[in-house]
Amino acid sequence: MYRFTLPRDLYHGENALEALKTLEGTKAAIVVGGGSMKRFGFLDTIESYLKEAGMETILIEGVEPDPSVETVMRGAAVMQEFEPDVIVAVGGGSPIDAAKAMWAFYEYPETKFEDLITPFAFPTLRTKAKFVAIPSTSSGTATEVTAFAVITDYEKGIKYPLADFNITPDVAIVDPALAQTMPPKLTANTGMDALTHAIEAYVSTLHCDYTDPLALHAIKMIDENLVDSYNGDKEARNRMHNAQCLAGMAFSNALLGIVHSMAHKTGAAYSGGHIVHGAANAMYLPKVIAYNAKEPEAEKRYGEIAAFIGLEPTSKALIEHINEMNKQLNIAPSIKEYEGGIIDEAEFLEKLPTVAELAVGDACTGSNPRSITPEQMERLLKACFYNEDVDF
Ligand code: FE
Repeated sequence: MYRFTLPRDLYHGENALEALKTLEGTKAAIVVGGGSMKRFGFLDTIESYLKEAGMETILIEGVEPDPSVETVMRGAAVMQEFEPDVIVAVGGGSPIDAAKAMWAFYEYPETKFEDLITPFAFPTLRTKAKFVAIPSTSSGTATEVTAFAVITDYEKGIKYPLADFNITPDVAIVDPALAQTMPPKLTANTGMDALTHAIEAYVSTLHCDYTDPLALHAIKMIDENLVDSYNGDKEARNRMHNAQCLAGMAFSNALLGIVHSMAHKTGAAYSGGHIVHGAANAMYLPKVIAYNAKEPEAEKRYGEIAAFIGLEPTSKALIEHINEMNKQLNIAPSIKEYEGGIIDEAEFLEKLPTVAELAVGDACTGSNPRSITPEQMERLLKACFYNEDVDF
């Protein structure tokens, strides 16, 4: 038996935010990130719509990019005091991810963080509050429709992907106006994250008849719109907002693969700086396709993707196409060249065995179409560092 779970309601298109006026509840906790939602006036609009719906509101502000365990605990404490029956998370992936974890600790104050990191073992949520997600500037993670959240433990330098259908939001509001505020670099990174979601979902060992059409259509939309969106085309940006969400619906139910395992474990591992999630995926995706394609079933499915977007039906054609997209989006082809070389080669090599081991153990490895040993993972990561061909 398999499960396919999505939000109960998804509002999209122009003025979708107005759906907030129809929400039922008495108290809403609004979780936001930095100042951009406030600056562009969306926060005021959201607050006024919630008031129109008869709700008292409280703000939990300042969720940082790659939210920390501490931020989650701080927000959960505010919720325990205020007792909201609606949680409205708005912004990039980070505030929405953080709000999902706050929600769990609000409903179960006695839970420990360690209890939540076992995949699909969450306690039953929505005994106290419903969850509304409104994605904005970092459309890409599609956390508004997924069963996932990534929380960073900075002390240990590890990103924990939380996974459970209990944290799939009740309502998603995908309003294109919010995506228009996104700067080009973020557009490129989050767009390639979305493409990675759709491709990994399509070749996942858990893909099914319900996830395949979502993944394929998302890939086609991203292929047709991402570069234009990066170059400032408004309509293409609107289409990308929907495309990333479709990709999210696919991967929330089909899960992902080792591109994400590698991105999770390399993201916060080096002293030179973070490797931003979307950029990491963009760099690793072509290498992982080459690795996975040694498995005949995976080669066949990469070929199907390639054919669907008008390429020769091979993994090779797909890889070349993705490399070309990365070039057009000004994304570095290797970790070594990332952000002008902020990741130190000696440190990378020193940490390689540990990072490889952690990546193999990541929750996303289980649904990858080809199995991988720590030794193979070391070679793959090295290929990503030096931009070498993968032929093993
Ligand atoms: Fe991702």
